Amino acid sequence: MIILKTDREIKLMREAGRIVAQSHELVSKLIKPGISTKELDRAVEEFIKSKNAIPAFKGYQGFPASICASINDEVVHGIPSQRTVQEGDIISIDIGAVIDGYYGDGAKTFCVGKVDKEKKKLIEVTKKSFYEGIKFAKEGYRLSDISHAVQDYVESEGFSVVRDFVGHGIGTNMHEDPQVPNFGKPNKGPRLQKGMVLAVEPMVNAGTYHVRILQNDWTVVTCDGKPSSHYEHSFAITDGEPYLLTVL
Ligand code: MG
Repeated sequence: MIILKTDREIKLMREAGRIVAQSHELVSKLIKPGISTKELDRAVEEFIKSKNAIPAFKGYQGFPASICASINDEVVHGIPSQRTVQEGDIISIDIGAVIDGYYGDGAKTFCVGKVDKEKKKLIEVTKKSFYEGIKFAKEGYRLSDISHAVQDYVESEGFSVVRDFVGHGIGTNMHEDPQVPNFGKPNKGPRLQKGMVLAVEPMVNAGTYHVRILQNDWTVVTCDGKPSSHYEHSFAITDGEPYLLTVL
């Protein structure tokens, strides 16, 4: 069941989302060759708490940290550790925050120093695919119009969209109905309606879309070892343009 949100609820989600965006800004300043993902995690956790918010991921189904940090061929759900990032790496940072019980969820992929052309293009295409998708995040369209637009654009650029993990509704839970795939035929699924709040999150691979989960039961990696990028915002459907919540 899709739970529509009131203006008051969307306002709270905007506050949670702003903290997510500020956390990404903090990460962008900290990322440099030699920093560990654990250090990034600690900095974000402290920041979120300093805003009287709660890190949404910590303890979620047993996840041990406040951010997901996924390097190169890691797609999503990388666990922060002593591992340091190196010049030429790309790293996706997924962050969630909760204010008064309302969630914000967003992800971005960063370059560490200079990265090669393919990785740079992968990050750009992933980001752009989100904005291609939300051209259809308006009343009157149907959910899979977003999904289709993401896939269509990504594949036109020669990359692939992950099938096994999808976007989602969000509200008083991090994951609510509906699921929002980054692929599929248009004109399917529920009709979009004011008050729906969604987290659309293309996970885009340079090679095959097939992924597998490492033995730690969390980290998702590409099957071919090629890099992957992630981009996500939470937003509300309005009677006009979508209202982005995980921005500054
Ligand atoms: Mg999400």
